Order: sequence, then structure tokens, then C-alpha cells
Amino acid sequence: MRGAVSQDVYVRTVERMGTLVTIQVVGHGANVKEISDRQAAVERAFDWFGRIEECCTRFDPASELSRLAHRVGEPVPVSAILFQAIQFALAVAEETGGAFDPTVGHRLEARGFNREYRSGQPVRVAPESSGTANYRDVRLDPERHAVTLLRPLLLDLGAVAKGLAIDTAARELAPFRDFGIDAGGDLYLGGSNPDGAPWSVGIRHPRLDDALIDSIRVSDRAVCTSGDYERVVAGNEKDGSHHILDPRSGRSTAGAASVTVVAPTAMLADALATAAFVLGPAEGIALLERHGVDGLMVTPALERHATRGPIFAENDR
Ligand code: AMP
Ligand code: MG
Repeated sequence: MRGAVSQDVYVRTVERMGTLVTIQVVGHGANVKEISDRQAAVERAFDWFGRIEECCTRFDPASELSRLAHRVGEPVPVSAILFQAIQFALAVAEETGGAFDPTVGHRLEARGFNREYRSGQPVRVAPESSGTANYRDVRLDPERHAVTLLRPLLLDLGAVAKGLAIDTAARELAPFRDFGIDAGGDLYLGGSNPDGAPWSVGIRHPRLDDALIDSIRVSDRAVCTSGDYERVVAGNEKDGSHHILDPRSGRSTAGAASVTVVAPTAMLADALATAAFVLGPAEGIALLERHGVDGLMVTPALERHATRGPIFAENDR
């Protein structure tokens, strides 16, 4: 018989990026100095969420991202954080032929996704674009960290910023090895849980609020989920519209109810979950397999489609 190893766990929850973020760090009989180091690292980890949100949000007219929308046609030097987020989003856009496209900002605004989550006030960042702008209208200069918008357009980094924040927070916590970050259901899990085993993650059933559709075990991995149940604008519930648009039609996508991706980084898991969601089962699972990540897609008819990797495949047979 093996006795459960009782560990001290430091847990703290704070509101960041419009969601609750919980960080837990497993202790290993730490002394006073180690405990205060751990608390300081957790505070630095939370600070990253605030800093990355400040750069990347389109809901604050003063954010770096929003200010960019007013400077069409000129190269604008931006922070390393914003540059990295845009560069990554454009790479995913390129790879998915624009199914994933960070220039969907105005189209999201037009569909009612224009309210600041704290105040509930509508935000209008920049004059309406022609509607035909896409990711090819954004140019990057990696040497100067400069971004040029070739046409009026509004970037939206909602599918990558949270992942980037989770990864940056995870780097602060890496010295402690065993830790978990949960940002509204998007996760990074380092090392082992307090029992010394891989972390156990329940995957939410997309249609039953309190049920799980699967449960997996991971270590040193991010787990991110895109679901059509996540953000629905009041009044739009009946027509099935939600927060992920197919840029090719300008409408909410209907091919998936939820997509969960397990990857080495949260930015990759976050973006690939959104991209696979737009692409639907066949192309979406192929995209995940090309990246060598694990994923599970549940369709609105509750069919399961999983990658061949080890994490979900066994459940599928
Ligand atoms: P997630 O909840 O991670 O799937 O991210 C969804 C968010 O990504 C939305 O709230 C939008 O901010 C943004 N988004 C919606 N549709 C797209 C798309 N086709 N390509 C890229 N980002 C999108
Ligand atoms: Mg995502």
C-alpha cells in the first residue's frame, strides 16, 4: 500500500483577461525563504497576464493594439509582446489559408462582440474597414519589430493572447517544476500534481454543463479548449452564433461544438484549437496531426474526432 504523500500547495486566484486565473504551485517541504520566493514568482506570473492584456486587447482604445488601428499605411514599431503575438497569429493564418485570421476584429464588433467585459460599455476602436481586409494586409518587419497595416483593419488577438500569457507565466514558475495555471479552462500543467502523479484534466461536455466528455493525464503540457458555448452575445443565443467566426463567410462556424488541444505551449494549443474549430473535423484534425499535437473535436451531433496521438486515441478505439 502506498500512502498519499501530503504536500503543501500554494493556490491563488485572481481575475485577469476577463476570466478567473488560478495558479497553484506544489511545495516540497519548503522553508520560509522558499515559500516567499514562490509567492513572489506567482505574483510575477499574474503580472504577465495584466501586461499582455494591456498590449493585446482591442477592448481598450488606449492599448497598443488599438492604437495601431489608427496608423494605416505606416510601419509602427511595437513591443516585443505584441510583435510576437501578431507574428504567431499571422503564421497560423498563412497555414490555414485564412480560416484562422487575426484581422476579424471589425467583423466581431459588427456581430456584437464589442463590449468591454468589466464596464459592459461598447467600444469602437477605429473607423470601419472595407470588410475585405485579411491577414495578407498586415506586414511585419522583424528587424524593427514594426507592423504595417496595408488597409484599415482591426486586429483581434483573442485566440492567442491568453495562450501567450499562460506560457509567459509558466516561465516564471518553471523553477518550481510542479505547478498548474488555469486561465478560464485553458491550462498549463508543469511536472506532477500534489500526489506526485501526472495532472488529471477533465474535458467538459460541450452540451451538458456539469458533465465531462473525457478525462486525460498530462505533464509539462498546455491544454486549451475552444467551445461554441463560451461567449454568446445576449440576444444571439437562438441563431447559434458564438465568438468564433469563419472569416470566409463572416458567420459563426458550425462544424464543431468544442475542440481541445494538448501541446507543448499554450499559445500553440490556444491558436490551434480555434483554427481547428473553424476548419471542422476533417481539415481540423489533419492540421493538429501536422503539428504533432493531440486533439479532440466534438461535433454539434456529439461525434468524437481525435488525433492518432496517444492522449485521446485510446479512448477512441
Ligand atoms: P478561443 O476561445 O481561444 O477559441 O478564441 C476565440 C477568440 O478568437 C474569439 O473570441 C475572437 O477573439 C478570436 N477569433 C474568432 N474567430 C477567429 C478566427 N477565425 N481566427 C482567429 N481568431 C478568431
Ligand atoms: Mg483558442
